[in-house]
Amino acid sequence: MYKINDNYLKLPGSYLFSTIGRKVAAYSAEHPEKNIIRLGIGDVTQPLAPAIIDAMHKAVDEMGRAETFRGYAPDLGYEFLRNAISEGDYQSRGADIKADEIFVSDGAKCDSGNIQEIFSLDNRIAVCDPVYPVYVDTNAMAGRTGTYDPKTEMWSDVIYMPCLKENGFAPELPKETPDMIYLCFPNNPTGSAVTKDQLQTWVDYANRVGAVIIYDAAYEAYISEENVPHTIYECEGARTCAIELKSFSKNAGFTGVRLGYTVIPRDLKCGDVSLHALWARRHGTKYNGAPYIIQRAGEAVYSEEGKIQLKEQVAYYMKNARTICEGLKEAGYTVFGGVNAPYIWLKTPDKMTSWEFFDYLLGAAGVVGTPGSGFGPSGEGYFRLTAFGSYENTLAALERIKQI
Ligand code: PLP
Repeated sequence: MYKINDNYLKLPGSYLFSTIGRKVAAYSAEHPEKNIIRLGIGDVTQPLAPAIIDAMHKAVDEMGRAETFRGYAPDLGYEFLRNAISEGDYQSRGADIKADEIFVSDGAKCDSGNIQEIFSLDNRIAVCDPVYPVYVDTNAMAGRTGTYDPKTEMWSDVIYMPCLKENGFAPELPKETPDMIYLCFPNNPTGSAVTKDQLQTWVDYANRVGAVIIYDAAYEAYISEENVPHTIYECEGARTCAIELKSFSKNAGFTGVRLGYTVIPRDLKCGDVSLHALWARRHGTKYNGAPYIIQRAGEAVYSEEGKIQLKEQVAYYMKNARTICEGLKEAGYTVFGGVNAPYIWLKTPDKMTSWEFFDYLLGAAGVVGTPGSGFGPSGEGYFRLTAFGSYENTLAALERIKQI
C-alpha cells in the first residue's frame, strides 16, 4: 500500500491569488460597466525584444537541418550561454564566477524549490519575512519546517527575519543560528534592496557560523543605485558560503519561454563535500533543462543589441514604478520600494489590514493589488503594487486613486 508525503497535508491552502480572483470576479459581476485595472501583476507584459526573437528564429531553423540539429542539451547548459553569463553578469562586475560554475535551468522557481534537496532535513532555515513564498513552501514539503500555526501563519521550525519599515526592510542577523539562509534582493514583495556593506555582513556571518546563503537575485536588472550589489559574489568570501539564483523572466521577459540559472562556486564545500558536485546530480538534468532554442535566446540577452533593447524594457517598467510612487505620495500614502525593483510596497492607511485595503481599493477605484499579508506575517498592514502593467493603465489607476 503506498503512502503519501504527509508534509503536503500540513501545507496551508494557497488562498492569496484564488481569493483575489474570487473578489475581483464578484466585483465585476456587480459592476459590469467598470473597467478594472490590475496593478497586482507579477508577470511581465512587454513582448520579447527583437534581438531575442531573431536568435530564436535562427535556432529554430538550425533544428530543422540535419547538420545543425541538437538533441539533449549538455547537463550544465550550452557553453555559449554559460560563457555569456559568466562574462556579462560576473566577470564584467569583478565577480569571479566561471562558466563551469553556472547551471542553466528552466527558471529560478524550480531551482529555488529544488535546491533544498541537497541539504539535510535537520537544517534550520531562515527567511526574510515577507518574501516570495516558494522557499518556505518547498522546505515545508520536504519536512524541514515543523508544524504550521494558522493563527500566527508561521511554521514552528522556521526562523522568520522580519523586514519592516523600522529596519529599512532589510533583515537583521537572526538571534537563533540558522543553517540555510534565504535572502532575496531586490526583494519581492517589498521592493527593498541592500547595500554591498549590508550584504557583506551576511556573507561574513554565514562564513562564521557555517551557514549557506541561498541568494535570489531575480530582480537584479532593476537595480539603479550605485551601492547596491548586482550579485552576492561582489562580496568577499561569498564563494565559500553562497549559492545564487537568477532568472531571465523579469529582465528579459522569459516568463513564458523559461530560462534561469544557479551558480554554485567550486569553493562551496560542506566539510569535504562539494555542493557543486551534488547539484550536478540534481534531477532535471538533460531532460528538464532549457531547450537549445531558448538557450540561444538567452545568449542574445547579452548581445549589444539585446542589452540596449532590454535596458529600454526595464526603463519602461521603472517609469511605471516612478509614476506609482509619485502618484501615491501625492495622494498621501507612505510608499517604499520602486527604486531598485518593479515592486511598490505601501503602508495601508488608517490601520487597515492588507485585505481591508484590498477591498477598499477595488471598491473605490476599481484597482487590484496584492495584500502584503499574503507574503508572510510581517506583510500585514502593507500592500504590493507592481510596475508590470502598461503605462496608460498605470497612469489611469493613479488618477483614480488620487480621486478617492
Ligand atoms: N524569484 C523571485 C523572487 C520571484 O519573484 C520569482 C517570480 O516571480 C521567481 C524567482 C521565479 O522566476 P522564474 O520565472 O525564473 O521561475
